[in-house]
Amino acid sequence: MAKRDYYEVLGVEKGADEAELKKAYRKLAMKYHPDRNPDSKEAESQFKEITEAYEVLSDSQKRAAYDRFGHAGVDPSMGGRGGGDPFGGNASFSDIFGDVFGDIFGGGRGGAGGSRAARGADLRYNLEISLEEAVRGTKVELRVPSWSKCDTCNGSGAKKGSSPTTCTTCGGHGQVRMSQGFFSVQQTCPNCHGRGTVIKDPCGSCHGQGRVQKERTLSVNIPKGVDSGDRMRLAGEGEAGIAGAPSGDLYVHIHVREHPIFQREQNNLFCEVPISFGTAALGGEVEVPTLDGRVILKVPAETQTGKLFRLRGKGVQPMRGGTPGDLMCRVSVETPVNLSSKQKELLEQFEQSVKAENSHNPRASSWFDGVKKFFDDLRG
Ligand SMILES: [Zn+2]
Ligand SMILES: [Zn+2]
Repeated sequence: MAKRDYYEVLGVEKGADEAELKKAYRKLAMKYHPDRNPDSKEAESQFKEITEAYEVLSDSQKRAAYDRFGHAGVDPSMGGRGGGDPFGGNASFSDIFGDVFGDIFGGGRGGAGGSRAARGADLRYNLEISLEEAVRGTKVELRVPSWSKCDTCNGSGAKKGSSPTTCTTCGGHGQVRMSQGFFSVQQTCPNCHGRGTVIKDPCGSCHGQGRVQKERTLSVNIPKGVDSGDRMRLAGEGEAGIAGAPSGDLYVHIHVREHPIFQREQNNLFCEVPISFGTAALGGEVEVPTLDGRVILKVPAETQTGKLFRLRGKGVQPMRGGTPGDLMCRVSVETPVNLSSKQKELLEQFEQSVKAENSHNPRASSWFDGVKKFFDDLRG
């Protein structure tokens, strides 16, 4: 099933600001929250849909990618939380429901981003490279805005000299049994948010999160032979986890720009080579481009438009080794333009001599024969 537009899902305008998004999301989330709709698969999928939409639109980076590339620009299925916890990053469950469910949870709103200790989110980086770079391989510097482990506390979130202590509310289990009103379920511990530990003295640099927002520069080797749609996984280069949880991965999605001369199909390259009428008729040599320079292509006499010439091994070397592809040159005969009267006269003479003999344009002749037969048949 095609995904619905995220703005449509939340029922907001394209230009909606943060407050409008939050308001729209809260309203829908209250309606479809699984706790309010037990055993309703429909509500569950609605809740997932609005949550996913909110998760993307409330994150300025993801929203920008979505606005530019649509669903292809953001891939929430890559969130390193098994798709279960969309509240990574900025929007925490307690942020959104805090004022509604705060009394139930004893008002314990934590500053940390997730409702349980989670590994950092996976990140996606859309990298555009030229065909030459794809064929030869390249080295790129990626600037990744991301959460990184806090250096001050080494990721623990606790002030220097102190360390996190076991949570007394849940005894370190991270889960507690809640029973009030229509809630009677195993819940993430509101005191420690599932981590099982609490930080009494938070680190000043990261406010107890164990991670800080930073832009990192990564040097990445793009292997030769990559193509559009290829994906490279850089393990552990995603967002840092909260309070020492492991980092997510960074996925680099390759997109190869269109080339003015070559089109690529798997490991073969195609290019169009215009040749003159004279060369096509008499044969000759033309220079054709390859990715490693020019080569001479011998054109035999009587070459027709559309003929494909294969230059073996002048295509792309596959990423995982093996035989390189070929360069396929498709010739097209160019009709001469801007002829002088002298040249026209010569062509006129040439045309007369060709017509007199009636054997120089077999395709045209058989085509006219076919047309004639068609009209004869019509007449019956
Ligand atoms: Zn810190
Ligand atoms: Zn706890």
